[in-house]
Amino acid sequence: MHDKPVALVTGANKGIGLQIAKDLAEHGLTVLVGSRDLARGRTAAESVGGDARAIQLDVTDQVSIAAAAERILDELGRLDVLVNNAGIAHAGKPGRSLAEVAESGRPSVASLDEVRAVFETNVFGVIAVTQAMLPLLREAPAARIVNVSSGSGSLTFNADPSNPRRAIFGAVYAPSKTALNAITLAFAVELESTGIKVNAAAPGFTATDLNNFEGTRTVQQAAREPVRLALLGPDGPTGTFSSDDGPLPW
Ligand code: NAP
Repeated sequence: MHDKPVALVTGANKGIGLQIAKDLAEHGLTVLVGSRDLARGRTAAESVGGDARAIQLDVTDQVSIAAAAERILDELGRLDVLVNNAGIAHAGKPGRSLAEVAESGRPSVASLDEVRAVFETNVFGVIAVTQAMLPLLREAPAARIVNVSSGSGSLTFNADPSNPRRAIFGAVYAPSKTALNAITLAFAVELESTGIKVNAAAPGFTATDLNNFEGTRTVQQAAREPVRLALLGPDGPTGTFSSDDGPLPW
């Protein structure tokens, strides 16, 4: 069995996931840089430093997920941290502006195909990857699961008429993160007695491809909370939703 703790970060070939991979490697973990395109994953892993290895992983492809789990078992024999970071904001043409995405995501006009595609990655992909990795995580001495969510998924924020951002709540991305929060809590409840801690982190509005670089935070800032939750000690919480500013309302 590998002698150092091992972390798998999905969608780590760029953006916030890549920064999470860098930060975990800096903390001494062996990091598996999940990427649906292995070549892009390899390039990213080279930029991570420490012990980082690319792993092909498309969270919407059960064959890819099963192969990744098998490779981790064969090559390292352990998995201590799973960061479900991979996510998409829409399923349309790349490079759409936030305004365009908000417009096409209105509940009255949203394409059901797009709703399904976004949920496939952001919600069902997380369930599938977590289920596949659980046998390894259950064997780890202090396993942690972090789901990269979003403040936009908070029903409490969106139910508040004074929140100016509720106008873009929509039927696509934000509800996928609401569902991800529910799934986070469901896993946390089921796994409570095992000591595996499952938490959701909101990285904040960050300049990445996801929003055509319209975000205002850096990936370094965005990675802070997911990394903190990935490295929680034995007294840390489970079943929480937070940003680097503190707890968030569900
Ligand atoms: P990003 O730069 O677009 O990165 C998204 C990553 O997810 C990429 O590596 C992408 O891979 C990967 N991905 C997409 N579909 C995948 C699939 N089916 N299988 C495996 N990987 C897949 O966006 P980001 O901002 O870093 O997003 C990371 C996470 O933060 C997401 O869950 C997002 O919802 C969340 N978040 C972001 C913000 C923000 O303001 N940026 C705010 C709140 C939450 P490819 O390169 O192959 O496309």
